[in-house]
Amino acid sequence: MAFPITRLRRLRQTPQIRNLVTETRLTPDALVYPLFVCPGEGVRREVRSMPGVFNLSVDETVKEAQVAHSLGVPSVILFGLPESKDEVATGAWAEDGIVQQAARALKSEVPGLLLMGDVCLCEYMSHGHCGIVKATPQSLGAAVAAPPAATVEYQIVNDASLELLARTSVSLAKAGIDIIAPSDMMDGRVAAIRRALDAADLPNTPILSYAAKFASGFYGPFREAADSAPLFGDRRSYQMDGANLREAMREIEADIEEGADMIMVKPAMPYLDVIAAARDRFDLPLAAYQVSGEYAMIEAAARNNWIDRDRVMMESLLSIRRAGASIILTYYAKDAARLLG
Ligand SMILES: [Zn+2]
Repeated sequence: MAFPITRLRRLRQTPQIRNLVTETRLTPDALVYPLFVCPGEGVRREVRSMPGVFNLSVDETVKEAQVAHSLGVPSVILFGLPESKDEVATGAWAEDGIVQQAARALKSEVPGLLLMGDVCLCEYMSHGHCGIVKATPQSLGAAVAAPPAATVEYQIVNDASLELLARTSVSLAKAGIDIIAPSDMMDGRVAAIRRALDAADLPNTPILSYAAKFASGFYGPFREAADSAPLFGDRRSYQMDGANLREAMREIEADIEEGADMIMVKPAMPYLDVIAAARDRFDLPLAAYQVSGEYAMIEAAARNNWIDRDRVMMESLLSIRRAGASIILTYYAKDAARLLG
């Protein structure tokens, strides 16, 4: 049936009709609000490249979470900025680690709030990598053409890192974190974490795996927020190549086989096709992380009055939802919930 019998504009005439036929609906239930916890008291330090996002001491984290929760945001995900860093990420798994402290405070002060704990080592390692770093003997290539003296040959050791990730997960769950969310991209970490949680009598703690996490320039502002930029090298030996969709499917499949309860794609907007492909192919709850760079770009343009901030914010979240993510981690959780409420 073609024009003039078919007129697609018939269903766009009024807000009421448009609302009736809308295919994708955003609700605050889908939103997860990331929070960066730092030491101290009464600390509320804005992240330079993420206006509106703060490093918060535990007491301020509680206040911020209360506001988000009262607006209808059901969940927060916690990242930590430890007092000090070392080569074994002690701050990640210590009983009095900064996220552990925040989790205990949030559990007692905001009991209805779902707590996710990001599990990674980079914020707690002095070198800023997501796993244990080992210096390696000169590679074959390096022996042929001697590298400049400043070149450090190193490796992010996979299997030894798993033990620290598992230890961190158990420690977070014991402190009150409801959902463990590993973001390090080491092979086998979901299995290692599942084993450790079960062994610690925490068989009911779900794992939300950052299954397809791409090495992305969009993480720039986060590294300032979480003080986690690597001191040398980059993360391309463990995070995924942005060119690879089929490999992303293999990553997700591997994590499901290892016991992931939910999966995530990160970043969101530059990888909407990966989200859509994952939705098509897998039946687990699917999350996507609208990362710091996505947020920073919208904020920067809005502050120049180049775009309508609220409109673009909602459109960006809608696109992630439409692509197939049912859960969205976003720095806009509070603001979006306010508009949706
Ligand atoms: Zn990391």
